[in-house]
Order: sequence, then structure tokens, then C-alpha cells
Amino acid sequence: MKKLFGACYYPEHWEPDRIEKDVEIMKTLGFNAVRIGEFAWSFVEPSPGEYDFSLFDRVIETFSKNGIGVIMGTPTATPPAWLVKSHPEILQENESGHKLNFGSRRHYCFNSLVYRKFAREITRKYAERYGKSDTIIAWQIDNEYGCHNSTLCYCDNCAKKFRKWLKDKYHNIEALNKAWGTVFWSQQYRDWEEIDPPRHTIASHNPSLSLDYMRFSSDSAIEFHREMAEEVRKYSSKPITHNLMVNFTEIDYYKLSKELDFVSWDNYIPGDYDYHLQGMNHDLMRSLKNEPFLVMEQQPGRVNWRKVNNYHDPEQLKYWIAQSMAHGAFGSLIFRYRQLPYGAEQYHSALLNYDGSLTPRAIAAKEGFKAFMDEEILIPIKETAIYIDYENFWIDRTDRLNNNFSLLSDSILIAYKALRELGYNVDFVFPEDDISEYKLLFIPSAYYVRDEFLKKLSTFNGKLIVTAMTSSKDEYNNIRSSIPYGLEEILGVKVVDFGGIEQAQDLMLNGKKFKGKFILEVLKILDAETIGDFLYPYEKFPAVTRKGNAIYIASIPEESLLKELLLSIGFEKRINGAEIINFKGTSVLLNPYPEKREIEFGHDKIFLEPFFWKIL
Ligand SMILES: [Zn+2]
Repeated sequence: MKKLFGACYYPEHWEPDRIEKDVEIMKTLGFNAVRIGEFAWSFVEPSPGEYDFSLFDRVIETFSKNGIGVIMGTPTATPPAWLVKSHPEILQENESGHKLNFGSRRHYCFNSLVYRKFAREITRKYAERYGKSDTIIAWQIDNEYGCHNSTLCYCDNCAKKFRKWLKDKYHNIEALNKAWGTVFWSQQYRDWEEIDPPRHTIASHNPSLSLDYMRFSSDSAIEFHREMAEEVRKYSSKPITHNLMVNFTEIDYYKLSKELDFVSWDNYIPGDYDYHLQGMNHDLMRSLKNEPFLVMEQQPGRVNWRKVNNYHDPEQLKYWIAQSMAHGAFGSLIFRYRQLPYGAEQYHSALLNYDGSLTPRAIAAKEGFKAFMDEEILIPIKETAIYIDYENFWIDRTDRLNNNFSLLSDSILIAYKALRELGYNVDFVFPEDDISEYKLLFIPSAYYVRDEFLKKLSTFNGKLIVTAMTSSKDEYNNIRSSIPYGLEEILGVKVVDFGGIEQAQDLMLNGKKFKGKFILEVLKILDAETIGDFLYPYEKFPAVTRKGNAIYIASIPEESLLKELLLSIGFEKRINGAEIINFKGTSVLLNPYPEKREIEFGHDKIFLEPFFWKIL
């Protein structure tokens, strides 16, 4: 893909005569791409079977004359009122059996055959109309699968489909009963028809049922996507994508990315801004296909949907664009082009004001686009990696040892921060990926480690850090007979007992005091060396062990502990006070702060302006 810069544009929200003026403004801002169309179903099909594409025809023709490419979004995230009123069975149902109402978005069930028929039809209409247009540069199917917690539906359509999914997986009901341990609490099934989705119950569901339901729900979203993409492919050879979301874990993005020609995602910034969190998401998106990705929606300033929709310095937008490009993006589209005074997102900021005038954010975006338009897109070099399997997010949610613990923010993000604070690139690796080139692999609390990955670990020559609860569960979400299953020989330890801890627990490493959090494990040392011990009242228990290149931590480490550990096994602190990404023969330094910074880099001191960057 060539580099793409622009915004998400909604011509249906404005007077048609505004189009020519907008395109003129877009050209002055350095746009070469826009995304349109993804919420316009009721606009192009106001009544069943009555289509009016004349506005989009005019828009696309105007973009075509001005050399701006169009990413066409298909509109299935927003089924219109006429469809919902005539077919209420397409609506999602929550755990308690309540149908979601019309009036927002993402209210459809992925498994409704009626909805799939209508969704295919409107997707086909878009594809027929614009499939051969040279102005269309890519397709976005639907919008933000899973947004507003919409992946899991509990309706009768889903129940029926789930039973079939289970039958295909287990073949006979006895195999399912055995795998799920249904003898517990008298849950044995005689027939597939007796199995329901994990709807609201008085206490916990069977964790095996819950995990399979998460797998099934993720597969359902991916199957929906595949069906819609099939319609587009009948008429167009242009690449197909979907806009993934920050910190979403309900859909297996690795599996979904196999269906995409390129990965794109929507970069929204939490109120308590943490540049490492944004960096982690960029690195995760790049790692899905190990290829450059597109930021399909870049937040320009305040949004409308957080508890507090914070003000952001317009200059920060330039930094967000630079950060995404440094982490391997091939472009950035700002969401949205112009602020809209009506509808559910009226507080959301944009490049243009409500009255159509330019905001300072438009100038910041223009400068950000210009800075990277002629730069080569490079992939950061492979240095360190963190292991991810989406199924572990689901295990984390379906059976909890400590309800205060979050796999993503307390384990994976902490490992990421420790590595990034020292100045090392981080890739995310998935069970199918090759790990042989990394000098360090981190396995943060991966409850279930697949056999294929355990095999790779047995021949891995880099340094390995593994934290508590890793390889403690099997594929059915049941406890392994031995923990950490398949890793005892590599790590030289065995977990003989474990429990949650309410308060962080002191431990000693290299003569310094650190904290382990959330979980404490009791280890039996096989042939590892103890390099860190818990303190009172658990001073008899090893906290950190080492066998050759393999380190085990019998708790959830804080960031400073990990940094100390990394420094003691041959890693160094490369940078102070900025973000750094390393490429073959060069590095990019970024200052994420609103003030000028003096950065220590090797023996040099480098000054970076607020929110600015430097290519070394
Ligand atoms: Zn459903």
C-alpha cells in the first residue's frame, strides 16, 4: 500500500453543495484518502429495495477528479429502523434475555440468518455500484466489530448455532460431558438440545462452557465478516480490511486478521493518557500480520463517549500521527473531518469546526501528514517479543483466581512497559509464529499454552521470562495435572500451591525490595537456582528462579522488578525520557510530553520540542 493520509468523511451529513469546497480544503491539508459510507444504510436505502446512490456517485467523481482515493465502508453496523421494525428477530439479546433496542448501533446478532441476508444484500449493492471504480482504493467491511461489548449475544439463533458448533467440535455428547466435567453440579447433558448459551444464572457457569462460548462468539463475528467480504470480492479486487479497536479482546484478532488484506485500527486515547498503552496497541496491530497497518480512525482531540471527554492540545495530534508511523503504520485517517452539531457524537472533535472553518487540529494534521508523506515505511527490527493468545483473555474472564487482576493491563502491559522503558522494540507473537530470531521472549501469565508453542519453546535459544499462572490450564479451561505444564524441565520448577493475594507482597531481588502482586505461588525447585525470595510472611518461598536462560516469577511482577531483572541478564537502559523505536541502521526518538525534553541517548544529549520527534 502507498501512504494514506486524510480523514473519515460523511457527505450525507451536510448540504450536497458543500462537497466541492470540502475537497478543496482536503487538498490544502494534504489529503490523499478518505473513508466514507459506513453508517449510511438508511440514507442509500431509505425504504426496502429503494436505493439512491446519487450523492456518493457525485462525491466519488469529485474525489476522482482531485486525486483523492476512497476507502468505502459497508454500512452493516447500523441496520435501519425499517429493517428492525419488520424483523425484530435480528436484534441482539443480552444474558438476561432482554433484546437490545433500535436507536444506537451494533444492535444486530451475528448469527441471525435473516440479518445476514439483508446485510449481504446491502453489501452487494455497495460492491456492485463501486467495485470497478478506480477511485476506490480499499474496502472496510462493517465497523468496529465488538464495540460496546457487542460480540456476545445470547438469543435463540445463537443457541441453535452454538449447539451445531459444539457438535462439530466434540462429535458425541459424552466427549463434551467429559471435557467440560459436567458431572460437577449435576450438569450432564443427554442431548445437544439441552445445551444453552451461558445465560444469566445465580452463580458461576461451567468455565469450559463459558470458554467455548467465547470461542464460538469470536468465530461467529469472523464468519459474518467472511460472508460480507465474499460479496465485495465478487465485484472488486481492491484490498479489504476492518477497523479493529484499542484493547479489545473479545474477538480473536489474530484469526480475524487472516481474513483481512491489511490490518487497520482505531486509535482512541484514554483520558489518563499513557503513550506506552498506545504504543502497545500499535505494536500489537503490526504484529497481527507482521506488516505495516493503517490507523483508520485517529482521535483528533476530545471524544464524546468517555466519562470525561478531555481537552487535548492540538499539537498532540501531530505526536499521535508520528507515533503510529514510527510503530509501523502506513497512514493515518483522522476521525472525523468536520464536527457535527447533531446526533450521538456531537461533542466529538474534528479537523473542521461545526461551522466548517479550520481548527488548529487541521493545521497539526497537515504538518503531521507532510512530515511522513515522503518517509519510507519501515518495520522495527526484531528484538524482544511478548506471547499472546486471545483465548487467554477469555480464560482470564471466565474463571478468576483474583478478581482484581487483569491479564491485559496488569501483566501484558507491565511486561511491555518494562521492555519499552529500557528502549527495546517489542513484537507480539502468537502460537503459530516463529520465535527463533528474538533475544528475549516474555510469557506473561499465559494460562493455556498450546502444545505447538510448547514445542517451539523447547528449542528456543533466547532469554525467557515466564510469570505466574502460565500453562496452568488446558484447552477446556480445566486445571493441568502439573503446573507449569510442559515447562517444568525448561524452567526447573513445579508449582505445588497457589492463591490470590489482596495486598502486594514484598520480595527481594539483587538486594533490593520489589513487589509481587495479585497471585502468589509456592514452588518446588527441581533444578533451578533461586535468585529472589518472598519476604515476611512467606520468606520460605522462592519468588524468582533461574535455570540457564529461563526465569520464572511466582507472582505478577511490578514494572520496576522486571526492569531490574532485565538489567541483570544483559539488557541495558538505552534511553531516558523519551520513546525510541529501532530500525535497521536508524532509530526514531519521540517526545510524548507537552514540554521540551532533554533526552539521554547513549553518550549524547538530544533536545526534543514538545510532542516532537527526531529520526536519527
Ligand atoms: Zn444472537
